[in-house]
Amino acid sequence: MGVIHVLDEETISHIAAGEVVERAASVVKELVENAIDADAGRITIDLAADKNGVTRIAVADDGVGLAADDAVLAFRQHATSKLQHPQDLDGIVTLGFRGEALASIAAVSKVTFTSKERGSASPEAVMLVIHGGTLVRNASAGAPEGTSIVIEDLFYNTPARRKFQKSAATELSHIYDIVERLALAHRRVSFVLLYQGKERFRTYGTGNYKDGIAAVFGSSFVNELCEVDGGSALARVRGFITRPGGEMRSSPTRFYLTINSRQVVSRPLQWAVREGYGTLLPKGMYPAAFLDITIDPCEVDVNVHPTKREVRLSREREVGSAVQDAVYTALHSQDVFTGTAAEPVSTPVQVPLVSEEKYMVREARTLPYVRPPPLQQRQTERQLNRTEDTLSGTEADISVPEVLGQAGDTYIIARNAEGDLLIIDQHAAHERVMYDKLLMDVEEKRAGQELLVPVTLTLTRSESLAMPELSPVLAAAGYVIEPFGRDVWAVRSVPVVSSTLGDPAVIHEIIAEAAGEAEKNPERVLDRVIKTAACRAVVKGNTRLTIAQMQRLLFQLAKTRSPYTCPHGRPTTIVLSKDKLASMFLRT
Ligand code: ADP
Ligand code: MG
Repeated sequence: MGVIHVLDEETISHIAAGEVVERAASVVKELVENAIDADAGRITIDLAADKNGVTRIAVADDGVGLAADDAVLAFRQHATSKLQHPQDLDGIVTLGFRGEALASIAAVSKVTFTSKERGSASPEAVMLVIHGGTLVRNASAGAPEGTSIVIEDLFYNTPARRKFQKSAATELSHIYDIVERLALAHRRVSFVLLYQGKERFRTYGTGNYKDGIAAVFGSSFVNELCEVDGGSALARVRGFITRPGGEMRSSPTRFYLTINSRQVVSRPLQWAVREGYGTLLPKGMYPAAFLDITIDPCEVDVNVHPTKREVRLSREREVGSAVQDAVYTALHSQDVFTGTAAEPVSTPVQVPLVSEEKYMVREARTLPYVRPPPLQQRQTERQLNRTEDTLSGTEADISVPEVLGQAGDTYIIARNAEGDLLIIDQHAAHERVMYDKLLMDVEEKRAGQELLVPVTLTLTRSESLAMPELSPVLAAAGYVIEPFGRDVWAVRSVPVVSSTLGDPAVIHEIIAEAAGEAEKNPERVLDRVIKTAACRAVVKGNTRLTIAQMQRLLFQLAKTRSPYTCPHGRPTTIVLSKDKLASMFLRT
């Protein structure tokens, strides 16, 4: 006994302050982190909920446990076994260190805490019952080594906070997300999650990253990944990322980064991963990334965020370049496709040497304009047909720029009647048109077309749990999706505009994006769904178009409500006005 002590004022003053228990999911996070810190090999999370929210959270572990005196101390504010002096904060390796979680949780709920110290001679475990922070019972009980903690009536004595709790479905989807992330970060620990008595999620603690990923995303997803093992002397970077050509998303929903086993959210490191992809990553898209970064703990400051989601790196730039390097190397290694059923990387096309004479002839024939291959032409035709009737203004009163050509197979070069030069991003432009079209369909309630054969798709647990809330919004956008089995959903109808939008990968992405948005801005979920759908059904960059097709696209664009930006706010058009050109050529 005697491992826990109350921190002195001086140390407390160095700890980043903030609320740790604002919702049921944060309770689960703190309790599971405590079990991990206690060297547990197995953690069981048992949840119950009714229609108003989560009613019971029980977390049991087989970790080191606590002796009776320590158990009582553990519930005091700022009581911890993980930290003594302010300078210890510099090399912290445990997930907890603030000594606040148990005290804060106990203050707003009814807790039953049972613990038996590992290797203790006594046959008895300690059992504490605490209501609203007051110890109401301190007894001994029979229990296995380890700790079990049961939280009931969360926020029973803080009605204001209880009122702010989200529905059980939202909260559960959060909890699943947290447990999935912790399980992915701590692969030597076996996690079992039960909800209403039924097992919903399990990992086996094999230590193998792929096993963990398969438990969360399904085993076929693992085939989309390639291995990363690299970095620098400062930071070792290991894990898995989406291999080139694998499914990408328009937000970092599948970023699982850990620094010294602590999962973190870090924009600079997300950026570093994307930089590592370079041109292998479509613009604005994110791969999946499961990366463990190992750094000397002295280089990491974990004490910046109350729930410890963010960390500060003293040499962030160097760590970033180690990540970028490791990703780049993995993507360019020989075995980027090994262990997958994918096509091997195609070897670069050999350009035959031609005589100068032949070359001249060919150049003459290809100038001034190279037409796209017929198949591609037809695909573009189809894409443009979808947005053909997006008419709002009458045709007479709009002026459409005249197409001059295409640059880089991505930008339309045009001029308008005023003599300005316009450069238009063909993807952004078509996205704007499609967005308006989808929005109009939603407004006029003709969004969905029924599928002859429903498409089934498998969602992650957390996505599945978010579905009851998302369904009505998805339906408004044209997606009628119904439960079909454990985490399996049947898509019965998709947006009228395009069958591309019935592609399961696309629907999955739309749901993932919507679930993320539901968290941040519930009122904007529909908009997010439409934006993601719009992005998927339109002409892409790096696609050669015919002059007629470009002209048609500009015509459609001119009729939209805000032709100058795409729905994501990026510009569709750069205007080099006549005056601007004059000044650039120093004519003024
Ligand atoms: P912190 O984790 O920041 O130290 P907590 O309030 O979460 O603060 O926990 C207080 C102390 O209680 C911990 O330092 C640890 O010694 C002990 N403790 C909490 N949960 C467990 C557990 N599951 N097993 C063993 N000890 C625990
Ligand atoms: Mg803790």
